[in-house]
Amino acid sequence: LLKPKRARPFFGRHPWVLDSAVLRVEGTPRDGDVVDLATHDGHFVARGLWNSASKLRVRLYAFDPATRLDAALFRSRIEAAVALRKTLGLDDRAGAARLVNSEGDDLSGLIVDRYGDWLSVQVTALAIANRLEAVCDALEAAVAPRGILLRGAERGLSQLEGLHLPDRLVRGTAPAGPVFVTEHGLKFGIDLAEGQKTGFYLDQRDNRQAAARHARGRRVLDMFCYSGGFALACAVQGGAGRVLAVDSSAKATALAKANADLNGAANLAVETADAFERLDALKAAGERFGMVVLDPPKFARSRASLEEAMRAYHRINRLAVDMLEPGGILVTNSCSGAVSRDDFLMMLAGVAQRSGRTIQLLECRGAAPDHPVSASCLDGEYLKCVIARVA
Ligand code: SAH
Repeated sequence: LLKPKRARPFFGRHPWVLDSAVLRVEGTPRDGDVVDLATHDGHFVARGLWNSASKLRVRLYAFDPATRLDAALFRSRIEAAVALRKTLGLDDRAGAARLVNSEGDDLSGLIVDRYGDWLSVQVTALAIANRLEAVCDALEAAVAPRGILLRGAERGLSQLEGLHLPDRLVRGTAPAGPVFVTEHGLKFGIDLAEGQKTGFYLDQRDNRQAAARHARGRRVLDMFCYSGGFALACAVQGGAGRVLAVDSSAKATALAKANADLNGAANLAVETADAFERLDALKAAGERFGMVVLDPPKFARSRASLEEAMRAYHRINRLAVDMLEPGGILVTNSCSGAVSRDDFLMMLAGVAQRSGRTIQLLECRGAAPDHPVSASCLDGEYLKCVIARVA
């Protein structure tokens, strides 16, 4: 039962019930059990799965009393999610796509990425972990992968959920080496066992192309390049001049170099360095670029660290703007959910003010459409990609 006046978000279909909203529990649900959520006076609100170890006490999966949370429901949700990617044209077996995007596909706590014939599964909810076999059955039935790997639950998150899931192969065979996929005509080798996140940043697929469309003839700096997605799109497809890609992780730059070779990108140089130090050094050396891409990791883990994060965004964006030639293009990203679109644009306004440069917003973009966001759960919207001209 919910506390009085706490039911509105759930009538609004928001799927997260915090422990602080719960008035009383009838019966003794075990973690992972199906529970009904009701108003303080006993009216049905929604149905979900219980987790006493999480602040997110109940995750909701159905909002009418007739729907049962059984294997058939999870199976039909997974089928619907896979069908959506088909309509998006992302079912090419040579490519990669996010097949299930948690709340965005009414499957809170489950993320599934397909890389060619392999699936990489990320579980962030105990209730889903308990149903992993049923989830894998449904995935095998829907896409017949060669193997399913369990990957990369963020350690913090796992602790929050009381989840201990080591990386492992759950079905089929593991790929012998990197899996090669094609994204908008570019080839990428993806290290499913060691790569970051679930192996590749699929959310940036269309933003790399969007950036490349502005790159013609420009000298490009791709800062925080990971496996070189933006740099390659600009170098190979965008007709950029020289391209410099930088990441602080040696594993990432090794991937970026391998991908540059794979695509015959002779105009692409890759360096392993810290972004802040490298930006300072490039600026001090008087280097100029026609385009700078910034795609840093999450600077803000929570609203609490927001101020510090905004200072870091300001700092790198200021350095980028200072190195852009007049009329240069800034492609600046934030993947912190705690930073709103407005916060991010305000930061850019601050950079314009301090640098004395005019910043014209050309495109304000988000994640690719295989990362749908539920209108009832905007917490799923995290990626901001702004393409701007700096006069
Ligand atoms: N643009 C990439 C994704 C970038 S993810 C793509 O399209 O695939 C963020 C990257 O920032 C990671 O690869 C991480 O290794 C790198 N990184 C984190 N801290 C850094 C730092 N201080 N300097 C440089 N790179 C950093």
